[in-house]
Amino acid sequence: MFVIPKTMRAVVYRGANDLRLETVPVPRIGPDELLVRVAACGVCPTDIKKIQYGTVAPPRIFGHETAGAIVRAGARVRRFKVGERVALHHHVPCLECHACRHHAFAQCAQYKRTGITAGFEAAGGGYAEYVRVMPFVLPGVVRIPPRNSFLEGAMLEPVNTVLKAVKRLALLRGDTVLVAGQGPIGLMFTRLLALQGMRVVATDLLPTRLELAREFGAVGLVEIRNPTAAAQSRVPRITHHASRITSPPVDPQLSTLVHQLTRGRGLDAAVIAVPSDAVVREAQALVRGAGQVLLFSHTRRGAQMSVDLATVCVDEKDLLGSYSADFGLQAEVARLVFSRQLDARRLITHRFPLAETAAAIELASHPTAESLKVVVTQGE
Ligand SMILES: [Zn+2]
Ligand SMILES: [Zn+2]
Repeated sequence: MFVIPKTMRAVVYRGANDLRLETVPVPRIGPDELLVRVAACGVCPTDIKKIQYGTVAPPRIFGHETAGAIVRAGARVRRFKVGERVALHHHVPCLECHACRHHAFAQCAQYKRTGITAGFEAAGGGYAEYVRVMPFVLPGVVRIPPRNSFLEGAMLEPVNTVLKAVKRLALLRGDTVLVAGQGPIGLMFTRLLALQGMRVVATDLLPTRLELAREFGAVGLVEIRNPTAAAQSRVPRITHHASRITSPPVDPQLSTLVHQLTRGRGLDAAVIAVPSDAVVREAQALVRGAGQVLLFSHTRRGAQMSVDLATVCVDEKDLLGSYSADFGLQAEVARLVFSRQLDARRLITHRFPLAETAAAIELASHPTAESLKVVVTQGE
């Protein structure tokens, strides 16, 4: 029988840009909890920011896109047993509070608590050998089917955040949607929107990413050559009288393509999967009246930009955001990933052992032409 050791290796955040491989105690679990041996944990931009800018107090063990095997189950746990391969969600809503009744799970007080830890202040713990799964996040534990890998399991959480955002869009089959940025998240948007019958226009700086976007179902591809040059060239507005006066700079190739695909109507929606304000402005100009611009990557507090508010009021262009996952979508997300309709394996380009977590984070924060999702793996 597998014996759980007393201590384990973990990558401990000790301050801004200070990650150390340390030996820490294996977490103890209570009667309603699970102990999971981590097999894979995705590197997520939200953790990268906390680590690089030191925005939260150390010490912590990060990593929240976690999959692994249950090695111990508390005496009162009925739903799970030792040996099961599972994907974890570190945030689970209470389903009862005011925010939850409004389906605003990411604003629920319980949801904001992190229910998975490898020690210290709970922060996900996926960059350790074992994690403790607390009772209130047990409803977020998903079994991984035998044919699927731990790596695929670790992708459920990010895919969930993307599906949640897609559901915020008021789209009809055949609509034209811009997905700006084809990193791992942008590519998930491209795939999920294409699966729902949308015509996706994908933009990125890197041709390698656009090629994958095409394989994921994008019908229009635009390689943004030089964002600053594009931002400086002022191109005639496409649709609206109101925006004619103050039309923001738009990439000419993108503008032409959108014009062709929509017969001059404009985009039905745009998803901004790059933290660029110029791209938001561009999207706001390219969507039709009563279209939607959804922000997904603007997670840094304090960023400001000016918007012609008449585009919101008169042109009825919605500017909206989406953050984190939707607990209610878990079954649908699991189906999409495990059936490989969204083949998450194609998004994982790099795997690092636990001891090289810092290098994994470094690569994820400075992507190359070849890199997409970076995952820390143990024994898989
Ligand atoms: Zn994440
Ligand atoms: Zn709640």
